[in-house]
Amino acid sequence: MKGLREIAPYIPGLQPQEKRMIKINTNENAFSPSPRVAAALAAFDAGELRKYSSLDNGDLRAILAKNNGILAEQIIVGNGSDDVLALAFLSFFNSSDKVIFPDLTYGFYRVWCDLFRIPFEEIALTENFELRTADYLRENGGIVIANPNAPTGIYKSLAEIEEIVKQNQHVVVIIDEAYIAFGGETALPLLEKYDNIFITRTFSKDAALAGLRVGYGIGSPKLIGIINAVKNSYNPYSVDMIAEKLAVVACEDVAYYAKTNGEIAEIRDWFSAELLALGFEVLPSLTNFVLAKPVGVSAAELYAHLQAKKIYVRYFGDKVRIADYLRISIGKQAEMVEVLMAIQEIL
Ligand SMILES: *Cc1c(COP(=O)(O)O)cnc(C)c1O
Repeated sequence: MKGLREIAPYIPGLQPQEKRMIKINTNENAFSPSPRVAAALAAFDAGELRKYSSLDNGDLRAILAKNNGILAEQIIVGNGSDDVLALAFLSFFNSSDKVIFPDLTYGFYRVWCDLFRIPFEEIALTENFELRTADYLRENGGIVIANPNAPTGIYKSLAEIEEIVKQNQHVVVIIDEAYIAFGGETALPLLEKYDNIFITRTFSKDAALAGLRVGYGIGSPKLIGIINAVKNSYNPYSVDMIAEKLAVVACEDVAYYAKTNGEIAEIRDWFSAELLALGFEVLPSLTNFVLAKPVGVSAAELYAHLQAKKIYVRYFGDKVRIADYLRISIGKQAEMVEVLMAIQEIL
């Protein structure tokens, strides 16, 4: 047949369906979403579904604007931040110059460049998996940086992010803040000085709502206008009515999430220290996961050992630079104690 498209898709972590398991392979939140979400879901009137969902997601944008100290005109909402990011790539990366991002980062960036036929170049992180600011001061067609980065967990200071945004005002710099709630400093203040920055966030990690599929992007009203036109040329009602309602009530419970995400950060630091004590190499993380290199056992062996005990972590065997590492999401304290015991069994 003529005209068929073949592409290598993004490969997500396994989604096993077992009843008793420790699933720490896709950076889902260890805790349940705010109890207000369950209450709002139970109270939802199914009769409402007769109508289309909101075209402008006004309710959700209003509370996001309030929580972030910005204007609703600076926000676009989407079906997960993957949706917002894909639209951003389509909307902002249309020059013949190469879009640049690190060689080790969120795997979808490369997939979207392939899908949308955007020229790109992956820039090697340093040996310590650090992003070198100087590498992002070259000619380019746009920049994408996850901060903190995934799957390394490493955070880059706001001053250095600003340098990159400042020196690249002729292109859009996307800062993917999927994990910013776990310790880093947001790039939001840069919005006042620069109109070439576009920040993406998700409800999947810090709001414990990965299954709801809601994310958002923040930028100047000009960039938001451009991306909205692209969104409305493709799938205008991308966020369903239930999702928008539940996301709004999640936003209303700032205190709950400050507590649960603070706890995750504490468990992460404790767990990292325990792995270091075993002699593992552990990258400094400001996310809800750690990337660690075991000693005394290979990453592949440890991965198989844990899997046999129904403990699911992420192993990137096909990525040469991190083939000796495992990415372990932070679960509840009791789960991480079990994980540590399981690890010690094989050392
Ligand atoms: C999880 C993740 C996303 C996607 O989040 P969704 O909102 O679930 O689509 C985007 N970027 C990074 C770096 C992530 O880890």
